Amino acid sequence: MPPSHRPPEAQLDLLVASRGRSDRLTHTEHLPARQGRHAPWPESIRPEIRAAALDLGIRRPWTHQVEAMNLAKAGQTVVIATGTASGKSLGYLAPVLSELLTGTEAPNGRGSTALYLAPTKALAADQRRRATELAPERVRAALYDGDTPPQEREWVRQYASYVLTNPDMLHRSILPAHPRWSSFLKTLRYVVVDECHSYRGVFGSHVAQVLRRLRRVCRRYGADPAFLLASATTADPAATAERLTGLPAHAVTEDASPRGQMVFALWEPPLTEHVGEQGAPVRRTATAEAAYLLTDLVTAGTRTVAFVRSRRAAELVALQAQDNLEPQLANRVAAYRGGYLPEERRALERDLYSGRLLGLASTSALELGIDVSGLDAVLLAGYPGTRASLWQQAGRAGREAQGALAVLIARDDPLDTYLVHHPEALFARPVEATVLDPDNPHVLAPHLCAAAAELPLTDADVELFGPNAAALLPVLERRGLLRRRADGAWYWTRRERAADAVDLRGTGGAPVQIVEESTGRLLGTVDADAAHTTVHTGAVHLHQGRSYLVRELDLEHSVALVSAANPSYTTAARDITSISVMSTEQTVAWGEGTLNFGSVEVVNQVVGYLRKRIATGEVLGETKLDLPPRTLRTRAVWWTVTEDQLLDAVIPFDQLPGAAHAAEHASIGLLPLFATCDRWDIGGVSVPLHPDTLLPTVFVYDGHPGGAGFAEHGFRHAARWLTATRDAIRACECARGCPSCVQSPKCGNGNDPLDKAGAVRLLSALLAGAPADDAEST
Ligand SMILES: [Zn+2]
Ligand SMILES: [Zn+2]
Repeated sequence: MPPSHRPPEAQLDLLVASRGRSDRLTHTEHLPARQGRHAPWPESIRPEIRAAALDLGIRRPWTHQVEAMNLAKAGQTVVIATGTASGKSLGYLAPVLSELLTGTEAPNGRGSTALYLAPTKALAADQRRRATELAPERVRAALYDGDTPPQEREWVRQYASYVLTNPDMLHRSILPAHPRWSSFLKTLRYVVVDECHSYRGVFGSHVAQVLRRLRRVCRRYGADPAFLLASATTADPAATAERLTGLPAHAVTEDASPRGQMVFALWEPPLTEHVGEQGAPVRRTATAEAAYLLTDLVTAGTRTVAFVRSRRAAELVALQAQDNLEPQLANRVAAYRGGYLPEERRALERDLYSGRLLGLASTSALELGIDVSGLDAVLLAGYPGTRASLWQQAGRAGREAQGALAVLIARDDPLDTYLVHHPEALFARPVEATVLDPDNPHVLAPHLCAAAAELPLTDADVELFGPNAAALLPVLERRGLLRRRADGAWYWTRRERAADAVDLRGTGGAPVQIVEESTGRLLGTVDADAAHTTVHTGAVHLHQGRSYLVRELDLEHSVALVSAANPSYTTAARDITSISVMSTEQTVAWGEGTLNFGSVEVVNQVVGYLRKRIATGEVLGETKLDLPPRTLRTRAVWWTVTEDQLLDAVIPFDQLPGAAHAAEHASIGLLPLFATCDRWDIGGVSVPLHPDTLLPTVFVYDGHPGGAGFAEHGFRHAARWLTATRDAIRACECARGCPSCVQSPKCGNGNDPLDKAGAVRLLSALLAGAPADDAEST
């Protein structure tokens, strides 16, 4: 089949025209082609670099690149937050490589050095290639990661001037062994933090503390590097860069790169004849809809990637598209996701690149570092959680000359439904911020220990680690981890390595291994945190297009035993949750109501699971489980209303539980519009009369120990957040509540009771007292 050369409008027409789908298209955004704006190279960029850029076809940089180069050259901390494929890397590489090139003229050949941090190994490898293309060989660029052989590591430390690594290696390997890196660190001029929007939540908070440790160690060697960050477009990139580095930052946000035409369609799958929980209408799932659209695009010869949000969905979309297609096309569609063996993934990447594959259903594992540009169309089965990911994924289509099609297919949940009916939330100014909380004591404590092990902590250092550090040090001394000596400094007291006490990406506890019962073969792993809900006994688990049933989840040995099976259903865990207030840090009066932020203790227990028919979501039955409760101390935002407010809003006491519960669900669904969290990163509890507040109360909490900043962000932007929540509920076309508004897939109560109309009245009563300007400062 020849490749498709249809313009994107024609591709979209093809999708809309067939099978009477016109009512599913809720919005079409035409993103016109944009002319680029050039500026002359700054004088400070060495002629060798300019010449190399010219060889790569870059005659002059874009104006935003020049702005970044000038700021970097002046030693400023700068964050470049422009679109996908806007040449962010040239913006930081040109000044960095110029500086390193000048450094090669020093007597030892290494007068200056730079460190590059990427969230993934693949991206670091890609960036090393770019650096070697732009700089003469005497600027020695080297990867330093878990795969670097021991004999090469010494060479990197002694001779490399541009070291490309990741935050994990910096934390585990470089900082603890800083004396061996002293000559590198002494001359460190720049630290590049690429894809910095991916440092969010708990992981981002850890990385922020690792960067503070790096700054402190550099200081000891007399170095004061400038930080150069690259970010996707977000609400306030300068603030995020400051939180991440602890340094004031300049943001470069005016994107001057050219862009091909893109047609961006917003798509809502149809209601099905099936009913879900509590008799609610259910829409066709985004994954099922994506499989249909992928089928049509592949049939038309259009090279398409369908991005999906879970590993399971990647498998399902590929399977369903293969089923729908003619046999000779079926084998040109595949699934791609994390959890496959590296050789399986490499083979798929090659096939997509060569064009042997026409359709690929992929998780975000394909998002970074791997070059699959030049696709004709991208399907997004569900909002990928952040605008950054949305544009990263959509940007995979038609990078250069020809136009491209992107289709966002709404999942049956409040956020996606809101977005496909509020295109301005996607195409106007971003409202979503990259959220992290480096001051979380659970995050900070192990980094204070690691820092003390690197160099004893002095009073002068403490300020670097934020406002909570000073109070935490005596606590760590009482725990026998640190000791304050006569010189006034804090020392690490243990034999073991302090850095080993924390895994930056850790989710607490050993991952659970998924093992095939009959063969003993290891199929993959899941995070300990997720195990209770995803691989409980009786759960359906998918791997490489095959489905398995979990025979037993053995928590003691962290193993889930599975066997091949072919059930016609998927599974969804059920849990119960209680919450108590440990301390209230901030309270704002909203009329008679209150808005609060503070620390809470959440006790959660997975108690059973539902079986749901594949593709329709119809509930087939429920099974009980016997799993232990788990306790979480974290941070929450919560709001209360008074009995008088309920009376005024005409919410009788018997309707209150359903109204509060529905408001809680929808608000959890909408928070990711404002903070870069996933609805699974946060949880909620609603109580008609809470023992700690003695009032009707709705809580939304961070799902990680100590919090990750999401609840706090919700607290700070509560008026906008809860207004969007109310609007989303009110606008939903269902009669009495459905997954698109107030039902939640992770509800512990089987979505009962829920009162949609009551939730709108309750939120309106609360919002009537909200301060006019919402104190929208962060
Ligand atoms: Zn609804
Ligand atoms: Zn619920």
